[in-house]
Amino acid sequence: MSIQRPKGTQDLLPGVIEKWQDLEQHIRTICREYGYEEIRTPIFEATELFQRGVGETTDIVNKEMYTFLDKGDRSVTLRPEGTASVCRAYVENKLYGGQLPVKLFYMGPMFRYERPQAGRFRQFHQFGVEVLGADKPIVDAEVITLVWDLYTRLGLKGLEVHVNSVGCPTCRAVHRTKLQEFLAPRREQLCKDCQDRFERNPMRILDCKNPTCQEITQGAPTTLDTLCPDCSEHFQELKELLTAAGVSFKVDPRLVRGLDYYRKTAFEVLVENIGAQSAICGGGRYDGLVEQVGGPQTPGIGFAMGMERVLAALQVSNPLNNLTKKEFVRFVALGEEAQKKCFTFVSQLRRKGIPASIDLLGRSLKAQLKTADKAQARYAAIIGEDEMNRQVVILRDLTLGEQTELPFAEAEEELIQKYREEQ
Ligand SMILES: [Zn+2]
Ligand SMILES: [Zn+2]
Repeated sequence: MSIQRPKGTQDLLPGVIEKWQDLEQHIRTICREYGYEEIRTPIFEATELFQRGVGETTDIVNKEMYTFLDKGDRSVTLRPEGTASVCRAYVENKLYGGQLPVKLFYMGPMFRYERPQAGRFRQFHQFGVEVLGADKPIVDAEVITLVWDLYTRLGLKGLEVHVNSVGCPTCRAVHRTKLQEFLAPRREQLCKDCQDRFERNPMRILDCKNPTCQEITQGAPTTLDTLCPDCSEHFQELKELLTAAGVSFKVDPRLVRGLDYYRKTAFEVLVENIGAQSAICGGGRYDGLVEQVGGPQTPGIGFAMGMERVLAALQVSNPLNNLTKKEFVRFVALGEEAQKKCFTFVSQLRRKGIPASIDLLGRSLKAQLKTADKAQARYAAIIGEDEMNRQVVILRDLTLGEQTELPFAEAEEELIQKYREEQ
């Protein structure tokens, strides 16, 4: 019996991996331009970090974590998201003692035990940024502009940024009371989840996808109706800054993030996806999270995006986007002596950074040429017995179907020249 990969995981094979590398490259480039530095934290952490940092009432912590005891009887968890780890690292390494704000990005696998379905994986990949130690609306605007610019560069179509303010504990307490008053008469009709939320976290009811809940919450007071002067000013300034940066956005008062430590700005980026719109990035401000994991009071804001979802959206926006790298030159040899000569050429070219390849299976001349074609090599460089005697290489242009002869002494320089011209 052969062993199969675990459910909800994937092998990223050549042919697909190039698209990942291209996305990663775009991410690294834009982060460098915006002045965000990479952080890599462990893939597993003490379970308590996520219980405190993600929230014990969330589905992630309640149902979806890969938690186990290690051989030392410590409870550890494969990270289900990145923010809690970044905040932990910020505190543990005392990054707050250096230059502020700290602007970080991360990229890597996350783990959630979800029911596998199309586009959802138990091991998935996220890119995210976190800015710690700055509370001004210009930080929120910078973070949103970064993801907007990234998606625009990638060529995603139908982009829309949705923003909201969920307020602070002061104004949220007012909202909570007003919302409960509004919903109380129809409380029994809410879905089961929302009945739970009614006492614990009524704001989340605004975000419920259940049609009955959506109908009941029509006209319900939103957090925007109850913002305190400080939160209101922050939101106003954010909108002005986004306009100044040329980011088109929509205010969406139903966009909420439910945890206690979320503050003020919440946002999502939506993309047109086969007729419907779907969110491919979510983020917001979390002014209390660093304290939650044992650090000093620190404002923070960030976002995370699922890389699988972005790649799927790109597939829809740019179906012809073929990034597979083609071979430049494949050496084709007939006979042992010719093979050695070819291997010398290949080795020298590779040392100079020119992609070159050679048959590794001892195939016939005809089969080697066929392989060069299949690999869509730009050139085939052929050396047989006759060429060995005359000390020349036949250089065949596989695109144009033309060929020339080059003396051994000139072949390397000529290929380097041709490669440079095509870059
Ligand atoms: Zn407020
Ligand atoms: Zn509901």
